[in-house]
Amino acid sequence: MIARLMDAVFVWIARLMDAVFGCRHAHYSFPVTIRGKARRPQAAVLTGTYVACLECGREFPYDWQEMKVISSPERHREHLAELAKHAA
Ligand SMILES: [Zn+2]
Repeated sequence: MIARLMDAVFVWIARLMDAVFGCRHAHYSFPVTIRGKARRPQAAVLTGTYVACLECGREFPYDWQEMKVISSPERHREHLAELAKHAA
């Protein structure tokens, strides 16, 4: 009974962490690059490429140049700043 309650608490904490820090899962689909601007998923807006988490189904922008998933809002901002620098 206690163990089950602890499980529920851990699941809740994990969800909370996901919500605050973004997905912590390590299994992503192969990066998908969207061509054209129509019907771009939100996650693909930044780089034109995105991956989907195979565990929770969330979608994240993917940076082919750095071969990295841009998973947290903070990285998102850094990336935008980086892009702006290159554009300037
Ligand atoms: Zn996930």
